[in-house]
Parts: sequence; structure tokens; C-alpha cells
Amino acid sequence: MTDLFPLICDFTNPYREHDTTMQSLWAQLNNPIQQDAPLRRGVVKSKPPTATGPLSIIADVERQCALTLGMYMKTTIRTGTGRARDVPAELRAIRWHIMRNDPVEADVWVKHLTTWINEAKQVLGLIRQPSVALPRGTRCQHCDEAWVTSRNGEGQVVREPAVVLMWVEPDRTDVDYFACMACGESSEPGLLPSLVDHQLLPLRKDVDA
Ligand SMILES: [Zn+2]
Repeated sequence: MTDLFPLICDFTNPYREHDTTMQSLWAQLNNPIQQDAPLRRGVVKSKPPTATGPLSIIADVERQCALTLGMYMKTTIRTGTGRARDVPAELRAIRWHIMRNDPVEADVWVKHLTTWINEAKQVLGLIRQPSVALPRGTRCQHCDEAWVTSRNGEGQVVREPAVVLMWVEPDRTDVDYFACMACGESSEPGLLPSLVDHQLLPLRKDVDA
């Protein structure tokens, strides 16, 4: 069983970069000034294309935390001062509960945290956006979806590819896995050839019709 602790630290602890202490990824996601920094500098007119905006990552984190905490504590955790959710505390509580009770759930949470860390780094512009991507319209071999809709940072509904390549470590050239944002299935890069083969099959709904 993988311990979630290092991943939780990566997501919710401040970190050092170029001799500067940076806010945690979670804090940066929640910090609109940080998100708008490229705009204010006038360097980038629009945000880089990303798999998902900060708000949808935050929503996903809060939803998953509430779901899992609900199984153990029947409640979410609030910060000492305000009414806001204390998500870092919730993640630590989740780790404590599932390490004791549910090793299978721990693996699910490794995937959640790895995905959020990776998405956060991409959304916040902290890793080079790899130029490699799947062809637009690539259909998931599990659910056959090619597109998902989500809301971007401005609350607009946007259509984005369902199947995306994922890098766990920044600045790597080799893809670590690919994942479907529609059904949540993730696969080893060794299965990319079968994803290609799947594109040659007719749409399942055409077959069923
Ligand atoms: Zn899928």
C-alpha cells in the first residue's frame, strides 16, 4: 500500500523553488492573484490551454474529500478561523482513516492526488506544457467519449478532449500514463497502440443502433 503522505505534502505544503518559498499548489489554486499574474504582467493575453481550470480542480478536490470523509466522519473539516473548508486537514484525516481501514481506497487516492498535483502544475503554468498531444477527437477505449465539458476559470463552459496524456514528473519527455476525463479510466503508455486501434472501430452507439 502506498502511503499518501508524500503526495499530500506535495499538494498542500509550501515548497522551495529558486531559493524562494512558494505557496503550496493548493493555496496557489485558491489564489486569484497568482492565477492572474501572467495577465497583469502583460506577457500572456489569454491563459494557456489546460486540461481543466483551477475552479474545476478545486471543485473536484472538495467533492472527493467530502465523499470519502462522509464515509468515516460524516462531516467535512472547517478552518479554525472561518467557515471555509480546511482541505489540507481533510486530506490528512482521509489518509489517517484509509491507511487504517481501506488499502484499496488508498490506491484510488494515490491516483486522485497524482492527478491533482499534475493538473495544478499545468494550470498554474509551473511545468512546461508538453507539445505532444493526442489527435483531437480521440475516443476513449473504455467509454467511447471524445469530449468532456467543464467550466474554465471565468466560469465559461468549454469543450475539452476527454482522453489526455499525463506526465507525473515535470519536464519529462516520456508520457507516464493517459487518462479519460469522462470515465476516469487511466492506462499505461504501453496501451497507446490499442487506443490507436480503437479509433478505427465504428462508434459504439452506431453499432448498437
Ligand atoms: Zn472513458
